[in-house]
Amino acid sequence: MNKTHRLCLVLGDQLSFELASLKQLDSERDTVLLVEVMEEASHVPHHPQKITLIFSAMRHFAKALQQRGIRVQYVTLDDPQNSGSVPGELRRWQSLLQPDELHLTECGDWRLEQSLKDCGLAIQWHTDTRFYCTRLEFASWAEGKKQLRMEFFYREMRRKSGLLLNGDGSPVGGAWNFDAENRKALPKGVRAPSPIRFSADAITLDVLALVAKNFSSHYGALDTFDYPVTHADAQALWDYFLDWGLAAFGDYQDAMASDEPFLFHARISAALNIGLLDLRQLCSDVEDAYWSHRIPLNAAEGFIRQLIGWREYVRGVYWLKMPDYAGGNLFGNSRPLPPFYWTGDTKMNCMGQAIGQSLKHAYAHHIQRLMVTGNFALLAGIAPSQICDWYLAIYMDAFDWVELPNTLGMVMHADGGYLGSKPYCASGQYIKRMSDYCRNCAYKVTESTTDDACPFNSLYWHFLMRHGDLLRSNQRIGMVYKNLDRMTEPKQQALWERGQKLLAKLDAGESF
Ligand code: FAD
Ligand code: SF4
Repeated sequence: MNKTHRLCLVLGDQLSFELASLKQLDSERDTVLLVEVMEEASHVPHHPQKITLIFSAMRHFAKALQQRGIRVQYVTLDDPQNSGSVPGELRRWQSLLQPDELHLTECGDWRLEQSLKDCGLAIQWHTDTRFYCTRLEFASWAEGKKQLRMEFFYREMRRKSGLLLNGDGSPVGGAWNFDAENRKALPKGVRAPSPIRFSADAITLDVLALVAKNFSSHYGALDTFDYPVTHADAQALWDYFLDWGLAAFGDYQDAMASDEPFLFHARISAALNIGLLDLRQLCSDVEDAYWSHRIPLNAAEGFIRQLIGWREYVRGVYWLKMPDYAGGNLFGNSRPLPPFYWTGDTKMNCMGQAIGQSLKHAYAHHIQRLMVTGNFALLAGIAPSQICDWYLAIYMDAFDWVELPNTLGMVMHADGGYLGSKPYCASGQYIKRMSDYCRNCAYKVTESTTDDACPFNSLYWHFLMRHGDLLRSNQRIGMVYKNLDRMTEPKQQALWERGQKLLAKLDAGESF
């Protein structure tokens, strides 16, 4: 009989009963180890709600494992013996328990995985089967391609998963992608469902106190925490979205509205990323909703594309290109992140709304991240590492494998166009079209060069002018340069000067 004693380390974003390293667990002999460590909670100033979510979900998961008869060693942040790092804790427990084998599932952060590989212990690594596409499969798909395109990868994933396919393997509805139908602004009178909230139990209250005590210098509200911390509550969040949000998800996926932080978005990313929800189940639920005529195809396809397209694609790029990827800086940006990213203290209403809700809920939806806070950082030439650290810190769902490619690649185009074919730069006109923010803004979106002109307008043209050498040849934004060339010299000059003025203000540490 096999008498091997295994120690299985489970990280804070691996809280799934189906985790590969927990398979074949022998409850008689094996031990599961979970550790709350200062290094992971503070290597960037993570939002207090994010730390709360992870620690509370870890504690609930540990309890659930124990209820299944599994032996668990749990190290709290304030345990006097806590060494403060994951490798430190693994070494300590290896020495205390003397297991025959150490087991661990692949990490979601290159930095942490490397430190575990370098920590001098013989770890048996397991593939993270929570994803459709393994690191190796992605590498072999990408092999020989100079540039990658999400759309082609996504089609592969549709074929692999069998989702939304006809019997002959063709896509349901006759096209792979219905994104063109998913760009509507929110019409007057359409209200988003009120968000479902989860109240704190005794475990979460303890964690809230611990976080308040130890992370008071981190930015973001703690008293608005209302996120699910168990599998059952995450399921309730998902069921609520299936009933009330998903049907309109496609239509209003890109819309933004004042004081509507969630609109028709699922708000599930944090729960999914830490293992409280299962990707395959989510996809199958969405497909069922489509086949049973509860949601239109643009909602079903749009949602599934985010999950098996974008989410898997950015993960693939991350593991293929790290660690060099993190150093990408195509435009040579060096401007520090403006302090108002941490406070929301700006007269730009769109930025104030997006940053304000991020501080309040550790959440902004995709278009706010891409076309408001991200767009501003791109146009203003913020150093990629600084804006990446901000996204990693501020959002409850942010883990390096997903945050970095989205920010450095999709938003900042700092990887030279490896992940996406063009920078998503836009003037205030885009924000006006997709939101009601401009109606209550101190700036005029119709103006470009006056003192009260929308800053996005001149910064947009300034960005295009200063990077013409790199971008003019890009076919996907060539049209924009034709518009620039059609402008009179004085108009171009005025845009440049207004842009210079705004950038000088940022350099002087001023908000606007
Ligand atoms: P919905 O809009 O309801 O979408 C459904 C799901 O699709 C999401 O829960 C998510 O799992 C997935 N998804 C959608 N778009 C993406 C994408 N581009 N990449 C990966 N998954 C996607 N997502 C994270 O999970 N963690 C991050 O750290 C993160 N950082 C981002 C940074 C920037 C600059 C940008 C532009 C996007 C980032 N995203 C990140 C993607 C996306 O913004 C969030 O997944 C989404 O806003 C989460 O909210 P939701 O659950 O309501 O999503
Ligand atoms: Fe944002 Fe410009 Fe609109 Fe103001 S006018 S909300 S700064 S886009």
